[in-house]
Amino acid sequence: MSLLIENVHIAPVAGPEIQSGYIRIEGDRIAELGPGPAPAAPGAAGHSNRIDGTGCLATPGLVNTHHHLYQWASQGLAQDATLFEWLVALYQVWAAMDAEVVNGAATAGLGWLALSGCTTSSDHHYIFPKGRGDLFAAEIEAAREVGIRFHPARGSMDRGESQGGLPPDVVVEELAEILAATSEAVDAYHDPSFSSMLRIAVAPCSPFSSSAELMTESAALARDKGVRLHTHVAETSDEDEHCLARFGLRPVDYMEKLGWLGPDVWFAHSVHLSDDDIGKLAATGTGSAHCPSSNGRLGAGIARVSEMLRRGANVGLGVDGSASSELTPLVGELRQALLFQRARYGPQALTARQALEIATLGGARNLGREHELGTLEPGKLADLALWRVDGPFTSAVADPVCALVFGPPPPLARVLVGGRVVVEDGELRTVPQDAAGRAGAEAHRRLMRLADERGLTAAKELHH
Ligand SMILES: [Zn+2]
Repeated sequence: MSLLIENVHIAPVAGPEIQSGYIRIEGDRIAELGPGPAPAAPGAAGHSNRIDGTGCLATPGLVNTHHHLYQWASQGLAQDATLFEWLVALYQVWAAMDAEVVNGAATAGLGWLALSGCTTSSDHHYIFPKGRGDLFAAEIEAAREVGIRFHPARGSMDRGESQGGLPPDVVVEELAEILAATSEAVDAYHDPSFSSMLRIAVAPCSPFSSSAELMTESAALARDKGVRLHTHVAETSDEDEHCLARFGLRPVDYMEKLGWLGPDVWFAHSVHLSDDDIGKLAATGTGSAHCPSSNGRLGAGIARVSEMLRRGANVGLGVDGSASSELTPLVGELRQALLFQRARYGPQALTARQALEIATLGGARNLGREHELGTLEPGKLADLALWRVDGPFTSAVADPVCALVFGPPPPLARVLVGGRVVVEDGELRTVPQDAAGRAGAEAHRRLMRLADERGLTAAKELHH
């Protein structure tokens, strides 16, 4: 299969931008790109598939490095709560979910990501109520249908209220069963190949819901199997206080003590970092998923992204779970990141091109896939987004990358994953778009009904 995109403005992230050029795709990889018209392909009579990219900006597909897809089913609740208040209000509701809820939520959530230019997404699923079906398989099935590259993390919590943790005991698991299920998930699904559509990570939830033993055992398991590690770190000042009170250490120091710094680790959030913390992340190659809309929604704070980048710490983007960043499009996080950094540090804190780089190459690094994804270069996977920047309003903006990052999300002419069309002319092509949306709405109704049967949805904390 070959595909030629012509007459397109290319922002490859690696190497210079091309104002009008071509991208030639062979199989699932980029064969060639350059300025001007495409040279005749060697030995080919012509390309059966051509896309005229006139008026479009081509970028690498966006990479989402933090999410909780199941939360699509619990959006719009606990609207004015802090992280800890929000979690306490929602844990019990989430305890009612089943595989059907997860499949519907993941179908809608992943479809929504594809419609915002995302070609690779991670997910962090950390609640596995007993007797509710195979929740991990349910989200993997959804990703296969939607057709985007998927890096689900088998999450876990073992430190319930009775152990001094935040979550109620009903949503936590035993250490031994977590390790067995995590090991099984890696063995069943992890594909380390270059073109992999599915890789598994290991992800105890957070310092306030996972024991030290779970953290160290998880790290040993992941390193034994050659997969990556993910967890929440330094999201709020409440977490700082919790870690100081319980462990006598701030979150990053605690992670260091547990062997959780390294090039195979990426953290969600990394908001409350000291200068020393940033130095440790940079020195060890530990990545961070910046989730600005969620941090804003929960009043968590503004991460020190521009300082992290300046000091060489890797940063990718994430939308975070939909219950703390309702309907957030991934492309919108480029703008949100840029505005947050500039509001905190001034107008040179983050450029449009830096925002694009963290959303693509930075994300690929978080997932350990910088040699395969994240830039448009010959030999890399053909994961790209074609943004239509020639609309009657957007065409008034001098620079297409500025239009993409400073403005509202432009329409998508195409989203390609490994050369395969996932979105065309703003519509999902892999699954019927209306059905994907309805699956999410049904997942919401079902979860609310299941929670209601347990008398959990009347709490007033849930609705404020
Ligand atoms: Zn999260």
